[in-house]
Amino acid sequence: MIPSIDLRRQYQAIKAEIDQAVARVLESGWFILGPEVSAFEEEFARFCGAGFGVGVGSGTEALHLALVACGVKPGDEVITVPNTAVATVAAIEAAGAVPVLVDIHPQSYTIDISKIETKITPRTAAILPVHLFGQAADMDTILALARDHGMKVIEDTCQAHGASYKGRRVGSLGDAGCFSFYPTKNLGAYGDGGMVVTNDAKIAERVRRLRNYGWQERDFSVVKGFNSRLDELQAAILRVKLKELEGWNQGRRQRAQRYDELLQGTGIITPCEMAYGQHVYHLYVVRTRHRKELKEFLKSHGVMTSIHYPIPVHLQPAYADLGLGPGSLPVAEEHASQILSLPIFPELPWEGVAKVASLIGEFYQHSP
Ligand SMILES: *Cc1c(COP(=O)(O)O)cnc(C)c1O
Repeated sequence: MIPSIDLRRQYQAIKAEIDQAVARVLESGWFILGPEVSAFEEEFARFCGAGFGVGVGSGTEALHLALVACGVKPGDEVITVPNTAVATVAAIEAAGAVPVLVDIHPQSYTIDISKIETKITPRTAAILPVHLFGQAADMDTILALARDHGMKVIEDTCQAHGASYKGRRVGSLGDAGCFSFYPTKNLGAYGDGGMVVTNDAKIAERVRRLRNYGWQERDFSVVKGFNSRLDELQAAILRVKLKELEGWNQGRRQRAQRYDELLQGTGIITPCEMAYGQHVYHLYVVRTRHRKELKEFLKSHGVMTSIHYPIPVHLQPAYADLGLGPGSLPVAEEHASQILSLPIFPELPWEGVAKVASLIGEFYQHSP
């Protein structure tokens, strides 16, 4: 049996340190906005090559608060993609803004930079590229367009902890980078969590207020805020895990490379690592015209797979009001019908990689 992800195996490997960190917080009696969160904010911002980090309640909240802190107002337009967690678009709407969806590049699966400019209007306040599956979007053009049109760039880095673009880590490239620490992410907590990283002290300060009732100091609200905080337990756990992140990402990259080699010539379309950066393979996503059959075949042999994401945001019932029907974003829609996420995690045994690949080879030999 090969699961798509195995979080228990990871915990077993670092159990002593995690248990110690948890005990330290429980014994301290300090659970919200304390020394663990401050230390983790500093450590994670440094990891990203950013000046500031502000811990928040989730990746969705990181996006929402970053948009507000960047000055995105109700009625503004924010450009993003349809092939993402619905959370990306939910965060834009939580800020009162209107999501404007752009189709994706057929190889990188990230925003198609050639299709952004025609969607810019006088109301476009920001571009929100998603570094999908662990790979950076092509940031140079995005940053140049933002500069030329006076727009902000908010990176959705929820799937790309440690990925790089032209030698720089994602999250530090735009005005703000928004991370999720949902348990399955490359850096995952044991609950919900998120962070905004930025090189702009003012944006950091605004997010800091917004996450805690708009307080400038205790019981003194200077803006209308929210309650969206990373807690001390999660921060202490994440500090332990952050030390492993580079090694884990390396483990993911090595397994992806092995899949690439073993799947060559089978007929399946493997992921493309763009020359401009380093992929961290949050997911290893292949494409096939026989997805349903392949998924079932793998399952019948004990290999679990998943689909990220089966329905693009614009075709979700909740987002029918975007007015984008089938056929409006053809590349994203075609991919949604073909993509399949194979098992990938740093502890995935090599025999597991080999087994998945050989099953795929077998499947293709017998499929039309
Ligand atoms: C996970 C994820 C989010 C949301 O993060 P949560 O912590 O679950 O709120 C947003 N965008 C992308 C691309 C994600 O993968």
